[in-house]
Amino acid sequence: MSDPAMPSTLDSRTPTAQPARTPVAATDWQLAMQSAIRSLDVLLAALSLSPRDVAVSAAAAEQFPVLVTPSMLARMRRGDPRDPLLLQFLPRLEETLPQPAGYRGDPLDERTALRGEGLLQKYAGRLLAVATGACAVHCRYCFRRHFPYSEQQASAGRWQGVLTRLREDPSLHELILSGGDPLMLTDRRLADLLEPLAGIATLRRLRIHTRLPVVLPARIDASLTALLAGFPGTLVVVVHVNHPRELDAAAGTALCRLRQAGALLFNQAVLLRGINDDLATQMALWQTLADTGVMPYYLHLLDPVAGAAHFDVPESEARTLISALRERLPGYLVPRLAREVPGEPAKTVLA
Ligand SMILES: *Cc1c(COP(=O)(O)O)cnc(C)c1O
Ligand code: SF4
Repeated sequence: MSDPAMPSTLDSRTPTAQPARTPVAATDWQLAMQSAIRSLDVLLAALSLSPRDVAVSAAAAEQFPVLVTPSMLARMRRGDPRDPLLLQFLPRLEETLPQPAGYRGDPLDERTALRGEGLLQKYAGRLLAVATGACAVHCRYCFRRHFPYSEQQASAGRWQGVLTRLREDPSLHELILSGGDPLMLTDRRLADLLEPLAGIATLRRLRIHTRLPVVLPARIDASLTALLAGFPGTLVVVVHVNHPRELDAAAGTALCRLRQAGALLFNQAVLLRGINDDLATQMALWQTLADTGVMPYYLHLLDPVAGAAHFDVPESEARTLISALRERLPGYLVPRLAREVPGEPAKTVLA
């Protein structure tokens, strides 16, 4: 980890000032994380690829480390350097090339929206907590790849700020847990937050932004779903799936468990060059999600984050794609094409 601003895997930066707790055996999902792939060479070897097949960059991997779960790896095609699942996680040479004007470290000006440690408040009625910087995978296009997670985490026994803010402002009807990936927190940490939330009458919705049901389906275990089902208000889970092949049987089971726990399920995807920028893939994506009980939310245009310019799809092309989807799918299966414009009172819906 060369840069302390990068999301870490599992919570290595957690303050140690917590009361001593009896050590508990690692759960299945924690064991899966322990065997995650964390090196470019191992990733290539696991897929029978050589650095000659694909222009990778060790420098890019140094800057934002490789991280792929075993279950995601299992869905990638061996020997295919253009595999759309692999390309989401592969540090490529393009990341190190000079970036077009406007590409920067904090493309969304998140620092200006900070309301205390790990709390972002940009939009009416919604408070967003950066619950942890940890993720189960590192997506190369991530808009938070340069976010100062080490300074900005609302978790780690510091939920007090979240609770205080929610109690002080009764217009905040929704708490969004984001990250990183909030479900990387242990059940114990999540319980520390969820239990007091039940006592805040003005809080009507809890929303969780997570990629784990898909990239680490083992995380959605009975203990987690019992915890989530205990939230008295409406539970919303927004997953992040970019390509239909991400949805295998295990992901389907995890999503089904969340629905059984009472969650409303939505998906947000990012429109990515070479990954999901064609009509057939988009058609398959939103229909496969619907088969699993997940409704469309946003299709985001890429945020101009430094190192990700090679993923960009121009807005005009995105609009054409959405029009084509609209002609072919029921209205409720067409996502909102959106872009985040810093300083606007909501995400900008383009189509
Ligand atoms: C994206 C975002 C939200 C949620 O916006 P929705 O349009 O409700 O999905 C809330 N707060 C912040 C800081 C965000 O970036
Ligand atoms: S896109 Fe989500 S899962 Fe991927 S690195 Fe960013 S925060 Fe983590």
